[in-house]
Amino acid sequence: MARYRGSLCRLCRRENLKLYLKGDRCYTDKCSFERRAYAPGEHGQDRVRRKHSDYGVQLREKQKLKRMSGLLEKQFRGYYKKAERQKGITGTNLLVLLERRLDNTAFRMGFASSRGEARQLIRHNHFLVNGKKVNIPSYLVKIGEEIQIRDKSRKMARILDSMETVARRGIPQWLELDKDKFKGVVRAFPSREELTMPIREQLIVELYSK
Ligand code: SF4
Repeated sequence: MARYRGSLCRLCRRENLKLYLKGDRCYTDKCSFERRAYAPGEHGQDRVRRKHSDYGVQLREKQKLKRMSGLLEKQFRGYYKKAERQKGITGTNLLVLLERRLDNTAFRMGFASSRGEARQLIRHNHFLVNGKKVNIPSYLVKIGEEIQIRDKSRKMARILDSMETVARRGIPQWLELDKDKFKGVVRAFPSREELTMPIREQLIVELYSK
């Protein structure tokens, strides 16, 4: 599957927001955004002061969410179309769909230190959903499903380290974690209030509605 292969920290600096794409490093003083909080490139420091048009503001909001989720444009637009077809508020539907991806859920449960790492672990067959092997990061979890680390993967340092540090992020209320059993359960789908990422989804709806 096609994916972005450039510098992840560059994306944070471009969006002028910490997107937490590199796991533990994002919480240390090695974070590039902490050291250079201006846009990348030769004129990056000038760009911080530049005022965006309405279109520019909407575009940046979409880019933020897309990059936070680790998706490319075509994939992201696919989620938008799906959100549009669902009942309810399109912007909220979009956020909830992205949140339900298995890579995001595994990250939220603390089994990986970033969504990118979760994607890699899922592709390498380290996860079970309701006892069955699932290696598709875009799999959408359902209420009541159990996400579990496979027995043979429970000694992996990457997974153990992430589980040690998950308290720093906290587990959202719509998920439940049983650390001893390396297992989490989806209690409900998140409400808009529980989705704390700094995204104004209405701007994304306006952008795609043009
Ligand atoms: Fe973004 Fe993390 Fe890089 Fe900091 S370390 S700039 S939060 S990806």
